[in-house]
Amino acid sequence: DQVANQIAAGEVVERPASVVKELLENSLDAGATRIRIEVEAGGRKLIRIVDNGHGMGRDDALLCFERHATSKLRSSDDLLKIATLGFRGEALPSIASVSRLSLQTRAADDEVGTAIEIAGGKMLSVEDAGLPPGTTIAVRDLFFNTPARRKFLRSEQTELGHVAALVTNYALAHPNKHFELHTSTQTLISAPAVTDAGERLYQLFGGETYRHMIPVAAEMDYARSGLPEPPPWKREADYEAPPAGFLRLSGFISKPELQKLNRNSIYVFVNGRLIRDRLMLHALSEAYRNIIPPTSFPVVLLFLEMPPEEVDVNVHPAKTEVRFRQTAFLHDFVRDTVRTGLMRARP
Ligand code: ADP
Ligand code: MG
Repeated sequence: DQVANQIAAGEVVERPASVVKELLENSLDAGATRIRIEVEAGGRKLIRIVDNGHGMGRDDALLCFERHATSKLRSSDDLLKIATLGFRGEALPSIASVSRLSLQTRAADDEVGTAIEIAGGKMLSVEDAGLPPGTTIAVRDLFFNTPARRKFLRSEQTELGHVAALVTNYALAHPNKHFELHTSTQTLISAPAVTDAGERLYQLFGGETYRHMIPVAAEMDYARSGLPEPPPWKREADYEAPPAGFLRLSGFISKPELQKLNRNSIYVFVNGRLIRDRLMLHALSEAYRNIIPPTSFPVVLLFLEMPPEEVDVNVHPAKTEVRFRQTAFLHDFVRDTVRTGLMRARP
């Protein structure tokens, strides 16, 4: 019902950037390789996302506005994966309950697509529509029916900044996909698919930054780590033993001469998801200690890959916190890898 949806919206939808996050994740889950985002007035007036993913047939298009109507949990085996999926079928109904939403979608195999209009959670129309395969969702007048929430939005510029930062995060995590972000007057991000993170870094941050970056890579396995293997109960049933090199770290770190005034250029991805984690920030500040001043920050793009069992993504999907099983080990692994990279690049 509407009340439940609006309450859920309080959890999922804080600001335009959180809408963009949910829609972007859905597009990626739908296998899209091309994602175009348009915003007006920092997303308060309009957020439109166009993807070339697998789209939805009529039934799914209607169902996706029902709470908990996720198509992504088909068995209890999937429960393990919940953490990586964000909310379970709450995003679309929540967003639709606090905006005027239009959905246009067509599954590749269908002859005709579906167009649905919803305002404040009320379905206004459902029609056949000639559409290309894929999905377009437009979210207009966010929080038009919840003035108290609307009051909490910041300036257009601030909200746009959050949206741009978010799209940047996803573009960094998925170099092989084409991302675009437009306002009514500007193209903020235009990033055609490239083959690796280095090229994406160049594309998004420019040659000047790229020139000051050092590539790093390291991997670790249980045998060398001296860590205990996962407890037996974890190894039974569906637990797959971690392969050799179960922990992989790769990415780019900045040379000492490139310094920033804040942490906004520190990107750490765990299994493809951006995290903001104090442990990682601490490991990085230790690595850069006495190399850059304590008031400066490096540019960092790190990708950590580890078995899902090694990391707990916070139950609140709007947050980007994680809990690692081997905290101290991971901290030192990151610190030492970054240190080694810095030392090796010394003139
Ligand atoms: P969840 O992502 O947790 O399943 P959502 O409310 O975000 O929940 O989406 C509900 C459902 O709508 C999804 O499970 C998916 O089937 C469908 N869906 C949403 N967005 C898209 C999209 N861009 N392309 C194809 N299907 C989509
Ligand atoms: Mg979703």
